[in-house]
Amino acid sequence: MTYSKRFDGRKFDEVRELEAKVGIIKRAAGSAMFRMGKTVAIAAVYGPRELFPSFLQDPKKGKLKCIYDLLSFSVTERKRPGPSRRSTEISMVTVDALEPVLDLSKFAYTGIDIYVYITQADAGTRTAGINAASLALADAGIPMKDLISSVAVGKISDKICVDLTKEEEDHPEGATDLPVAMGTRTGQVTLLQMDGNMSQEEIKEALKMAKKACEGIKEVQVKALKDKYKEALK
Ligand code: UDP
Repeated sequence: MTYSKRFDGRKFDEVRELEAKVGIIKRAAGSAMFRMGKTVAIAAVYGPRELFPSFLQDPKKGKLKCIYDLLSFSVTERKRPGPSRRSTEISMVTVDALEPVLDLSKFAYTGIDIYVYITQADAGTRTAGINAASLALADAGIPMKDLISSVAVGKISDKICVDLTKEEEDHPEGATDLPVAMGTRTGQVTLLQMDGNMSQEEIKEALKMAKKACEGIKEVQVKALKDKYKEALK
């Protein structure tokens, strides 16, 4: 059996409805919300500020740190509160996805903290979190070479799809999930993970879809940043 029609009626290369807003947490240096369908991520950036523990301080560059958490009420099944192997992994890949567009040599001795919280989860939380964190860094005025845009592509049965929902990830015929993050201006891919199996040809096709989707995501991110300044000028 093939997956001929998506559960939510989207085209195979169509992302879910997107929504973005920056400046949602007034006390933070920068903050943002990014929604992809029913997946909602909020991100807050604090710093550059004094880095603790102090042995981590580097005279050559600042340290980017991230705490990602999928909040217990974000999912319908029981989820134990607090850190897990999964949240540690996603915190790490979020830093790896964002660091290449930052010049941390400008922030010697200091730390930049990114907090990513998932308030509603329907798959793709690491990608929504990266989109929110990238916007929060920009909102904090941290110089960036590019915004990072992120989406998961994958294979359901024999069909390559973009931005999978949880229902799609749990398809009875199996699904492959391939989260991608990239700077669409530089073309640099900063996150590439895969859970499942795909042939080289399928990966190439999926990456093409991811690039197109990330270009659309970037437009939404840029608009959110511009909207904040439009409001400020009113
Ligand atoms: N999920 C869940 N409970 C958990 C972890 C994950 O219900 O403890 C769900 C959630 O909807 C998440 C999805 O499983 O978005 C897929 O999780 P995965 O680890 O693949 O990462 P993600 O796709 O969220 O980046």
